[in-house]
Amino acid sequence: MSLQNLPEAAAALDAALAGADLTERLRLVAAFGGRAVFTTSLGIEDQVITAAIGLAGLPIEVSTLETGRLFKETVDLISETEERFGIAIKRFHPEQDDIDAYAAKYGLNGFYESVEARHACCHVRKLVPLAKALSGATLWVTGLRRGQSGNRATTPFAEYDAERNLIKVNPLADWSIEAINAYVEAESVPTNPLHGRGYPSIGCEPCTRAIKPGEPERAGRWWWENDEKRECGLHVPEATVSSIPTPA
Ligand code: SF4
Repeated sequence: MSLQNLPEAAAALDAALAGADLTERLRLVAAFGGRAVFTTSLGIEDQVITAAIGLAGLPIEVSTLETGRLFKETVDLISETEERFGIAIKRFHPEQDDIDAYAAKYGLNGFYESVEARHACCHVRKLVPLAKALSGATLWVTGLRRGQSGNRATTPFAEYDAERNLIKVNPLADWSIEAINAYVEAESVPTNPLHGRGYPSIGCEPCTRAIKPGEPERAGRWWWENDEKRECGLHVPEATVSSIPTPA
């Protein structure tokens, strides 16, 4: 596929991925050309992708955003995963100056006070490090699944990300949570122990709670906000996450 026209290449890749299994999807990504970066949050879907990359020895970089507010269980899982699959996971951290500026303007935990303050924190701790992780990448692999929320119900296998000028690939787009669990079992994939305590979706510790039976998978993320489409800005254009201010 040509790297000259990324939107066209994304559409062709989307069609090619549809009929392939997970390992084959990742092989197509690795063979596409250019640098491929997978960003993992260490959630169960991402652990499946990391396992598939590691087990097949594919040349796809694995990176994570160490926000500084992660659960200890999540941080511990990074090293455990590296050992299990013999891979190196690159850690990307926020800038201390940005954190200091945020704290001076909103307070360290100011994200509880307003959506604006929450988006500003996600910008500093996630979006800025993400931009570094994806710098120079042609493909960005994610663990998005259509079944995770209504907001993700139409997730394609591959699409052109105009904001970042790369192709975003979602090789688990059509996977069910049952299929995810079966893969984890079959391949002895290490997972976050918090999943067993009512946390299907795990983000930063102060912004994630356990869900109750029957609640949507992502109901425990930023639970104090009312917007059903709440996201941190990683997977929606920044311009649509209201206005994301830079702390001054
Ligand atoms: S999830 Fe919470 S703590 Fe983490 S970056 Fe976003 S607002 Fe900040």
